[in-house]
Amino acid sequence: SFDTLALQPADPLLKIIGAFRRDTRTDKIDLGVGVFRDEDGNTPVMRAVKLAEEKLLREQQSKSYLGPEGDIGFVERLADKVLGNAVPVERRHGLQTPGGTGALRLAAELLAKAGVRRIWVAAPSWANHAPVFLAAGIEPRFVECFNIAAQHLDLAHFLEALDGATPGDAVLLHGCCHNPMGIDPGPLGWQAITEVVVRRGLLPLVDLAYQGLGEGFCEDSLGTRILLAAAPFGLLAYSCDKNFGLYRERVGALWVTAPDAEQGAIAHSNLLSLARANWSMPPDHGAAVVRVILEDAELTRIWREELDMVRERLAGLRRALASEGRIGKVDLTQIARGKGMFATLPLSRTQIDWLRDEHAIYLAGSGRINIAGFTLSTIARFCDALRALDRA
Ligand code: PMP
Repeated sequence: SFDTLALQPADPLLKIIGAFRRDTRTDKIDLGVGVFRDEDGNTPVMRAVKLAEEKLLREQQSKSYLGPEGDIGFVERLADKVLGNAVPVERRHGLQTPGGTGALRLAAELLAKAGVRRIWVAAPSWANHAPVFLAAGIEPRFVECFNIAAQHLDLAHFLEALDGATPGDAVLLHGCCHNPMGIDPGPLGWQAITEVVVRRGLLPLVDLAYQGLGEGFCEDSLGTRILLAAAPFGLLAYSCDKNFGLYRERVGALWVTAPDAEQGAIAHSNLLSLARANWSMPPDHGAAVVRVILEDAELTRIWREELDMVRERLAGLRRALASEGRIGKVDLTQIARGKGMFATLPLSRTQIDWLRDEHAIYLAGSGRINIAGFTLSTIARFCDALRALDRA
């Protein structure tokens, strides 16, 4: 029976989504859920995606099974785009996964199977990292590295922690556009991370879920390339759900990097058998869409143009927020230096509740805001609310 089970709390962010939906105030602002929104508040299907879907509808001949590796054309083309020749083809072995989450879960299971016990993570991190690792039997070791009030990453503190890690431990890194801080290490930071990872014999797992939303598509995988080129073994968990706007289609991939083809093939065979035991085979549609786009120069051009617009909108909103300066304890000036969809503000639970109750402004209980939830006009209203909060 199930009578030994305890009721689990609903995901806090899903609760916010529900409360936002029920709120009848017409000027409500949703900064909670992590999806891109345009200036009209919509999360549209990209034009390149629609065109690829039309092509698939016309030309797809069969929906017969592919295999646990999924759409291998998708995996290979994406690897070329993401890693270029930083990691030679014989050093990388990939498979398609249900979203970036599926990739992370499979990575965690491979680590566990290989005898890895813990993974080092700079905190705060994406709220789902801990549950995913714990579910696979890997202990996340959080190192408090981000100063929320100062909007600052204390990388030296993280490097120090890694220096004390046991050889063979894993370390998690956000490839770009850190969720929830929006603060990345920068090229020199990546070099320093790489140095300690290699010197200490650690196993890096890069979570790259926002490529193209930060500084540019190629720029955003620079750190990933530096690290995976240098470390003998590594993992790259990738999500196409943000940069292709495919969220609910669950499009992701996982690569293992190894010093030679033989060791890579062994790790890959383990990934395939773990995938088989989890979901057998990944869902096809979203990955097929990405493959069709990447196979076609014109569709790729259209997609890159749309992705550039996403990035420019985020950067523009960040600049607009930063121009509001410091409001009480909240220093918005640093937001312009951040990357991607998220920032975390130094607000208490009471203040976050107050913003919701008095001003219909919804943000995560951690103080995380989705920058794309703003429009140029709602930024002023948000800052007025922060000023009122400071006076309250
Ligand atoms: N990693 C990070 C840092 C994320 O923010 C997300 C999505 N919120 C994911 C992984 C998972 O992405 P997906 O929706 O493709 O599972």
